[in-house]
Amino acid sequence: MNNSDVYNKSREELLSVGKKYNIAQDKLEEFLEPDRVVEVKVPVNLGTQVVTFKGYRSQHNKNLGPYKGGLRFHPRVNKDEVMALSLWMSLKTAVVGIPFGGGKGGIAVDPKVLSEKQLEELSREYVRKISEVIGYDKDVPAPDVNTNPKIIDWMTDEFIKISGMNGGKTPLNKLFATFTGKSKNGLEGRTEATGFGGVTVLKELAKKLNLEPKTQNVAVMGFGNVGFYFADLASKSGFNLVAVSDSKGGIIKKNGEKFIPLDIPLVYDCKQEKGSLAGCYCAGGVCDTRGGQMITNEELLELPVDILIPAALEDVINENNMQNIKAKIIIEMANGPVSPTAYHYLTEKGVIIVPDILANSGGVAGSYIEWEQNMEDKKYKKEDVLKRLEKMMQNAFENVWNESKKQKTDLKEASYLVALGKILSV
Ligand code: NAD
Repeated sequence: MNNSDVYNKSREELLSVGKKYNIAQDKLEEFLEPDRVVEVKVPVNLGTQVVTFKGYRSQHNKNLGPYKGGLRFHPRVNKDEVMALSLWMSLKTAVVGIPFGGGKGGIAVDPKVLSEKQLEELSREYVRKISEVIGYDKDVPAPDVNTNPKIIDWMTDEFIKISGMNGGKTPLNKLFATFTGKSKNGLEGRTEATGFGGVTVLKELAKKLNLEPKTQNVAVMGFGNVGFYFADLASKSGFNLVAVSDSKGGIIKKNGEKFIPLDIPLVYDCKQEKGSLAGCYCAGGVCDTRGGQMITNEELLELPVDILIPAALEDVINENNMQNIKAKIIIEMANGPVSPTAYHYLTEKGVIIVPDILANSGGVAGSYIEWEQNMEDKKYKKEDVLKRLEKMMQNAFENVWNESKKQKTDLKEASYLVALGKILSV
């Protein structure tokens, strides 16, 4: 897909859903266009020369509340990509039922070639350039690809400084509410929120389908923030976690044809120690070279498991491998891991696919709770946060499930209908 394709493809997908369900085309077209895309120059002194990077913030739609979405630092960041991602954020915030709109931004830069000092300067300069368009009641950025709580803390600090210099009267707690994903004044439970939300959705789906967790074998692709917490919490909820993987490949244990569940906390410790999952099938037991083995990520996707969790990259289930997928349930924990063609092919075959805008919306729901905590100038307890998050995810799932039954359609289309119903009725 070239640079100018992503936004248009997303737009076309939603327009065709609109047509199918007789949604007023003019209203839909108006919604699909971002309210504003800010482009800024971000100069940074790299020692020998000053290099100017390109920064963006797409503010897509604020019918339901302030714009909300991450900031990514990646060489491929461009206007088209942030526009598309901000549109998906508008839908995601609506599906999970929080009073936020959609936003996304970033800088076209490879942060790995910058020193920590240069990275800090880049982050602060970006905030200086967009400070007028963000705020607790305007637009609330968060971390995304290659950005983290430390970067967000620098940005928050810069924003507070700018507000002070401009003689701003906004109370400090509300200045903190301008960013989420912070370490300072951040939210306990935010780290696991996305994985926790995905497992809540899986448990609700299992109830609807009368599936006993202990009868269900689950494979998870990706063992980062989302994949690890998903695997750990699903295993604690009684599901059999039989395969996990990272960028170097996956691990499984088998006795003959039967999978042996992995001990996820021990696998995690092993990965921490070795730096990757390679060899971690030995974790927690006598290393059985016959039972434990490494597999490739391609093999993991095609395992004869009941439930597949792509939690790493986009487009991993596509035209090339869709015929080999054996799982009966797929939960899209990464953004866009199943291509539109594969989604259509697999749902036609009866596979239930929970779309990303529902499955991984626990992350932005957690961000909303962080924003609210800052707005109220309070410190919430982790157990209360997770209880609220569980309720929010259960409600979101129930709404989408009921819509899919009512319209006799798949969960992706049902999610779009739920989201558009809320956004366009304002
Ligand atoms: P992360 O960087 O913490 O982890 C990514 C994991 O994927 C790592 O284990 C990495 O080794 C693995 N990986 C990389 N390339 C791979 C490959 N080719 N095959 C298999 N595994 C590979 O990232 P994350 O925060 O866990 O995010 C994962 C996905 O979830 C992304 O699509 C992200 O956009 C999406 N997401 C994350 C959040 C969140 O709150 N973190 C919220 C919503 C959506």
